[in-house]
Amino acid sequence: MENTEKTEGQKLVEELFNNKKSGWETATDEEKGLIFKFSDEYMDFLNRSKTEREFVTSAKEILDKNGYRDIKDVENLSAGDKVYSINRDKSMYIAVMGNKKLEEGLNLVGAHIDSPRLDIKPNALYEDTELAYFNTQYYGGIKKYQWTAIPLSIHGVIVKTNGEKIHVNIGENDDDPIFTITDLLPHLAKDQMKKNLSDAIDGEDLNLLIGNVPYKDENVSEKVKLNILKLLNDKYGINEADFLSSELEIVPAFNARSLGFDYSMVAGYGQDDKVCAYSALRAILETNAPDKTAVCILADKEEIGSMGNTGMMSETFDNFIAELLNKSGENRPNLLNKVFCSSSMLSADVGAVYDPIYASVSDKTNAALSAYGVSFDKYTGGKGKSGGSDANAEFIAKIRGILERNNVRYQITELGRVDVGGGGTIAYILADKGVEVIDCGVPVFSMHSPYEVTSKFDIYSAYSAYKAFYREA
Ligand code: MN
Ligand code: MN
Repeated sequence: MENTEKTEGQKLVEELFNNKKSGWETATDEEKGLIFKFSDEYMDFLNRSKTEREFVTSAKEILDKNGYRDIKDVENLSAGDKVYSINRDKSMYIAVMGNKKLEEGLNLVGAHIDSPRLDIKPNALYEDTELAYFNTQYYGGIKKYQWTAIPLSIHGVIVKTNGEKIHVNIGENDDDPIFTITDLLPHLAKDQMKKNLSDAIDGEDLNLLIGNVPYKDENVSEKVKLNILKLLNDKYGINEADFLSSELEIVPAFNARSLGFDYSMVAGYGQDDKVCAYSALRAILETNAPDKTAVCILADKEEIGSMGNTGMMSETFDNFIAELLNKSGENRPNLLNKVFCSSSMLSADVGAVYDPIYASVSDKTNAALSAYGVSFDKYTGGKGKSGGSDANAEFIAKIRGILERNNVRYQITELGRVDVGGGGTIAYILADKGVEVIDCGVPVFSMHSPYEVTSKFDIYSAYSAYKAFYREA
């Protein structure tokens, strides 16, 4: 074995190139064990938390067990204290108080816990040809044809005028019924098949099939609808008008599973953005007495523009930080603005992975590759970065330093070829307040579909990145 000596060129390549490599190539057996364990815990959490309300419930349970307290029950805050605030059961802010004053800035990781889905309309129930249906309106950017002919479940709440709140979760247990939206048989779909994919299924036709048995009484009409209402009344004590004050979400009834002969990936609904939200939650749970105060944001309504009082644009977030200032005895006029201007943030949201089947939409050199680590988008937006938040080079350098010191695999990427499309996250909302922010998350296949796919390596790398950021930024 004489020629093991590296040539000058080979040495230079090692030294000068940004040598990218799949994380699976370099992961040790021990690391693989941690990666698979983390993914199992993530899938278990995801299966219990398919909607923003369920995510909040599951997160609260874990936080309560780990010594976190609701900030409204806390009078004074000092270093090491752990608190959270829940906003209308749909979004959540979590903090671990740092050793330094809040004035020196926060380290924020922000993800969203809403996902594309179908919502039941207020006037939900109707009958046609002895079949009962729920009317729906879709939520977020979906490809409508993907939501027909799959098993669906119903999750959410019905609130009665007396304030009683009924929690609904049906279609997840093996002995539950499931629901579906029917599609046309190919034999009769000649005209449908000629349509554009975007027009093939009309939004108004996304009607959920929920029953077929008529109520036995010759003196009434809409017997199937009546029978369904009777069943719902027996089970939940509701009548038809109670749907007017309900929030019922229709999501895929299948569970998250390991994908591949090698179990290397996770397939599951709602990974945008619950994969980053769960990783961020785990990261803050393992953050104790950090230098700067660590804050985890679990936002609602990102998929429809972050508006509303549970979305990231809501002042409820500013109010939470103001409460930290008040309860730590640090507050003074205008300090909140200063806190934001001194803060750093990872906007933890999923990105598009390079999919070789659809290679033409990506610039491969700048695309996020599966299993190459957590991906940072310097900027989002489209058509010349329009509408995007463009992270500052100085900030990226600082983050790179943290990741490299902590041996976290990362890639700095872009979503799609120039002018092909674009996307956005909550990053710009915090950037507007003066926070240093960069987008950073897990690359996803089939984003916004009923069954999104991620790499277990990338999930673990996102979690490791958020943890290192809380500790060192
Ligand atoms: Mn997202
Ligand atoms: Mn999305």
